[in-house]
Amino acid sequence: MTEEGTVHFGDSAIHFQVVRRPRRKKTLEITVDSPGVVTVAAPVETPRDDIESTVLKRAKWIMRHNGTSEQAPPHRRFVSGESLQYLGRAVRLSVRTTDAKAVTIRFHHWQFDVEVPCSLSGDERRDATRTAFEQWYRDRAAQKLPDRVDRVAGLLGVRPKGILIRDQRKRWASCSPDGTLRFNWRVIMAAPALIDYLVAHELAHLKVRGHSADYWAVVAQAIPDYQRRRERLRELGHLATL
Ligand SMILES: [Zn+2]
Repeated sequence: MTEEGTVHFGDSAIHFQVVRRPRRKKTLEITVDSPGVVTVAAPVETPRDDIESTVLKRAKWIMRHNGTSEQAPPHRRFVSGESLQYLGRAVRLSVRTTDAKAVTIRFHHWQFDVEVPCSLSGDERRDATRTAFEQWYRDRAAQKLPDRVDRVAGLLGVRPKGILIRDQRKRWASCSPDGTLRFNWRVIMAAPALIDYLVAHELAHLKVRGHSADYWAVVAQAIPDYQRRRERLRELGHLATL
């Protein structure tokens, strides 16, 4: 059974999972592994209240590392001059209103040329544009991830069963017991080095489940500087939203 909890800090809720570990480690350790995924490693005997008060005490740090579920989403208007992340770079939007029937997105010289039907305005316009961008990112993820997976799989000597692109709000990626990798379409917003880390992270689970030292040794075979990349990924969090 997994031990979980939630604490509230201002307008935000921090959900966490508790991993109990043997007595010899006396300290509580909090990590944010991906947006909204907070893990507290605690000695077996630490009372629940102590865990919650420690999470609360470190709330600001956790939120900075994007471990909160109700972070304010960016107030996107999808107008010229705004930018969105793609492969770790900020790509500027150039938006035109046309008499087209649907929103179209063209990625050209590291700029998004967006055409929006003049029949749309306000929330409708924003929602339609956001939906079109989500589809664009999903398509790019589906095009680009398989090659990266193949390459890293080669380095680790594993063979995944398949790759699925999903909308998983709280995680970047996962690996199911049957060997299928699922990626959040938002991963394609991250820099290639970070995508490779995520790919290696999931592929390494085909060899070792859980996050033991043995597991990280497998990740390191493909990504020797995985710790640094993992840290950068945590900082990315809020940027990878639409
Ligand atoms: Zn993992």
